[in-house]
Amino acid sequence: MDFDLILRGGTVVDPGQGVEGPCDVAFANGRVAAVAPDLSVTATEAIDVTGKLVTPGLIDLHGHFFHRGQPLFVDPDELCLPGGVTTAVDAGSSGWATYAGFREYVIQRAETRVLAFLHLATTGLATVAAGVGELEDFRFAQEERTRDALRRFPELLGLKVRIQRAATGEANALPALDMARRICDEAGTRLMVHISGTPIPLEAILERLRPGDIATHIFNGHEHGILDGAGQVLPAVRDAAARGVILDVAHAGVHFDVEVARAALAQGLPPTTLSTDMVRPAVARRMYDLLGVMSTFLALGLPLPEVIRAVTEAPARAIGQAGKLGALVPGACGDAAVLALEEGDFTFGDAAGHDIKAAQRFVPVLTVRAGRRWRRR
Ligand SMILES: [Zn+2]
Repeated sequence: MDFDLILRGGTVVDPGQGVEGPCDVAFANGRVAAVAPDLSVTATEAIDVTGKLVTPGLIDLHGHFFHRGQPLFVDPDELCLPGGVTTAVDAGSSGWATYAGFREYVIQRAETRVLAFLHLATTGLATVAAGVGELEDFRFAQEERTRDALRRFPELLGLKVRIQRAATGEANALPALDMARRICDEAGTRLMVHISGTPIPLEAILERLRPGDIATHIFNGHEHGILDGAGQVLPAVRDAAARGVILDVAHAGVHFDVEVARAALAQGLPPTTLSTDMVRPAVARRMYDLLGVMSTFLALGLPLPEVIRAVTEAPARAIGQAGKLGALVPGACGDAAVLALEEGDFTFGDAAGHDIKAAQRFVPVLTVRAGRRWRRR
């Protein structure tokens, strides 16, 4: 046998390579081995995916994947792999005092590739389930120990801070942001900032972000959002996008507003990345998995290749993994998603109650992880 697995007859959509068309995709030794129409090779497992979309393994840039036995958090293997998501990025569920446990008990054991941002707050988001903002008490912002953790765990993608009334209160918002900025500058790493429900003007946050930093919950409908009083995208948001700040969706129901997204798209401001902010909330919310968020943006008019780019090439680039993740090229990680577009009458929405009708939605067909067809254990 030439290869371990071959997907035959699908339509490959890999915007990072500019590919959209019929191609077979073969995998060997955990990696992509060949991508071309009508590959005349043999494989241990051959799967006919005619009529389906074949994309690089999807990347969810913002979720909370710390152990599911804890409040707030979800299990990546349970909620990511079945939907084609092979890389789950944890957006600061842990801080310097809890990351080692997250690493040993979740990251190293999951079948999903789990990568993480470290939170500036000592215990990450553990206190949020108790209704206490993680940086309401500024003693939990520990600059030296956070810096030390970033040094000791070089696999960390960067630092996360939530500039939100419920997370920092008003007085600690700017000091937290400035501390995070100092740490990232010294460590030479990226900063992800939660901007939804911020007690300070959005401009004050964006002016502190450098190219490659991530503004997450970009289309939230709360105070200090991306639109001015007349519904126009703020110049500071356009400036940030132009200099390479990543505009990340992180839906979560409560951090996404259909009308804000619609206005931004109409004014030529698409998101850089689509993500879920997957959590296990205490109360029911209109939350979606990544395919649901992708379906929402397809319904909002974002073209299909741009939807796929925003969950493959764009997040891979955002975490410094372009060409390795989110790409179907020989030598890249052997992850892929096989999806179908189901026709029907669907509704997607947000926590504010805005609905959007959709005539199509993405549904999962199968997932390839590390060169093998993934099956639920
Ligand atoms: Zn989050």
